[in-house]
Amino acid sequence: MSGVQIHVLCIGDELLSGNTLNTNLAFLGRSLADAGYRVRREICIPDTPEAIEAAVVAELAEADIVITIGGLGPTSDDVTRPVVARALGLSLRLDRGVLREIQAYLSRRNVRVPSHAIETQAMVPEGALVLPNRTGTAPGLWCVADTGKAVVMLPGPPRELRPMFLESVLPRLRRLAPPDRIFRILKVCGVPESTVAARVEALLPAFPGVSPAYCAKPAEVALRLCAPPDRGAVLAAAADRVREELADAVLPEDAPNLPAAVGKALRERAWALATAESCTAGGIAAAITDVPGASSYFAGGVVAYSNAVKLNVLGVSGATLHQFGAVSAETVAEMVRGVRRLLEVETAVAVTGIAGPDGGTPEKPVGLVYIATAVRDHVRVRRFLFPGSRENIRLRTVTVALNDLRLHILGTVGDGPSGAPGSARP
Ligand code: ATP
Repeated sequence: MSGVQIHVLCIGDELLSGNTLNTNLAFLGRSLADAGYRVRREICIPDTPEAIEAAVVAELAEADIVITIGGLGPTSDDVTRPVVARALGLSLRLDRGVLREIQAYLSRRNVRVPSHAIETQAMVPEGALVLPNRTGTAPGLWCVADTGKAVVMLPGPPRELRPMFLESVLPRLRRLAPPDRIFRILKVCGVPESTVAARVEALLPAFPGVSPAYCAKPAEVALRLCAPPDRGAVLAAAADRVREELADAVLPEDAPNLPAAVGKALRERAWALATAESCTAGGIAAAITDVPGASSYFAGGVVAYSNAVKLNVLGVSGATLHQFGAVSAETVAEMVRGVRRLLEVETAVAVTGIAGPDGGTPEKPVGLVYIATAVRDHVRVRRFLFPGSRENIRLRTVTVALNDLRLHILGTVGDGPSGAPGSARP
């Protein structure tokens, strides 16, 4: 099988009602994409036998492999196993080995369950491969129809599905069907998605077979360059060319995300960092310290939410606050200088802004944010007007501040809005 068609069928009323977030879908989609497979369709259906049977039959008509999620448990709404067996024309039989596994799992945990509930989960369609469940009771089942197509049934609980998928499903899939593409991911920061696309697509005609896909998050674009498996050299050359084109906007290959890239830049210079945050209230510090080993370069931060903290802890002058206000280029510049002095570090970042939904004025609307970065005595300030909700404004502030800091450390000036009074003053 090459270019294997994989469809994913999520089963459960709780997914459709929004009571459970469909994280299994995201996990499967991401894991399969990372392994070079494409999920061609994902659908979500109620847990009635009619809906499940109709969906399995319909999806099998087009797919090579249908992965079902959920409904393998012992309760009356868990009907995936018998329904799939019926749809494939396979009979179910009690598998004594599976029964013993489940009994052993439950007795290790001192859990008593009625025997019929255990037996329900030990029923296996004829010819099915049993996928062991290390973290729960119901095993997964890999069933093959007489057409050669497969239905792979996985349990709903994410802590059961994830190890089963990685340890049993993916290795078997790799043996049966080679991935239909290879790819390279480049994380691009601080450049709008449309600009990334225009610049990348101008280059790609020189690299036949390489195609781009984009995933945009606030202030960050993940560019995935894909190619057929036999075009590895062309793909590598295309990735190098794009990296050259977008230069420092692309994160280094060994930094999986922006905070890690900041950490790498700091570690390479043996510099330390401090943060002073108003509207993000520690979000930048939290992102920095999500990276293991951040203690080697992150000194600490001040959440300077009130004017009193800006004044008394960071040393912002009363005259500046009075004349320009807490959300101003002048204040953020004094915040960044203040925290750098206070914590005696080489680099610092400070932010102040109006995250809303209240507190905006015509002169200072919701979304107005000032970001300052300092590398030694050189301070750079930028002004932004971020759209969206409070959450979005805060998230963007964190991302853009980290990227501004990264570019300042690298000695590069980023794209985007600026021109605030006091910009790039030594
Ligand atoms: P169990 O033996 O626990 O009944 P099951 O295979 O029958 O497992 P479900 O009953 O469908 O699975 O779901 C069990 C749990 O897993 C529920 O809490 C459900 O909300 C969660 N779950 C099911 N599907 C998903 C999904 N796609 N994403 C995240 N959680 C899910």
